[in-house]
Amino acid sequence: MIHPATELRLVSAHIGHGVFATRRIPRGTITYVKDELEIELTPRQFERLDEAHRQIVDKYSYIDPRGRRVVSWDHAKYVNHRCECNTMSTGYGFEIALRDIEAGEEITDEYGLFNLQEPMRVDCGCHHCRKVIRPGDITRLAPGWDRKVIAALDGLSHVDQPLWHLVDRRTQRAIQGYLAGQQPYRSVAMLAWQEHAERCMPQLDADGLAA
Ligand SMILES: [Zn+2]
Repeated sequence: MIHPATELRLVSAHIGHGVFATRRIPRGTITYVKDELEIELTPRQFERLDEAHRQIVDKYSYIDPRGRRVVSWDHAKYVNHRCECNTMSTGYGFEIALRDIEAGEEITDEYGLFNLQEPMRVDCGCHHCRKVIRPGDITRLAPGWDRKVIAALDGLSHVDQPLWHLVDRRTQRAIQGYLAGQQPYRSVAMLAWQEHAERCMPQLDADGLAA
């Protein structure tokens, strides 16, 4: 689920839709949490889809560390990439505002953390546009992304968090432990799809259910 103070708007005929803040969202605000209504597909379920559905899932999903494609039920799936994004996925699973986002500003994301399977051309118009997002970006750029996330996490307990109740208890404890200096920080590198994910999880059957 995406932050409630957001809405879907048409950016342009070329870009399509995007997600915009309807009021100011301060740095450190959790902007997305994977909730129980999200559609999740294992690699095998994805391969079994017909071509039309595969294209839709390919366009609107991100891939989690277990290799599952996640399609949001709400307008979270319309958030566009920007190399100088204002929100970012974290090693805790949720996404966070990296800086203050003003009302009317587009919410943007780093697709390099989505485990893209193919290079993706982008033209975000930012000063340091990478032009192509590559599957290896997550390992190459994680240190810089971590610096941004760490700075944003500083604000987490000082701002309104309408999505906090959707963060699972274990993750809540991990983040509170980190902020209290009692637990290590979880790098964004933890979001990388572990290769051969299916082979590493033999306890799951074809539908992703525990055998
Ligand atoms: Zn760019």
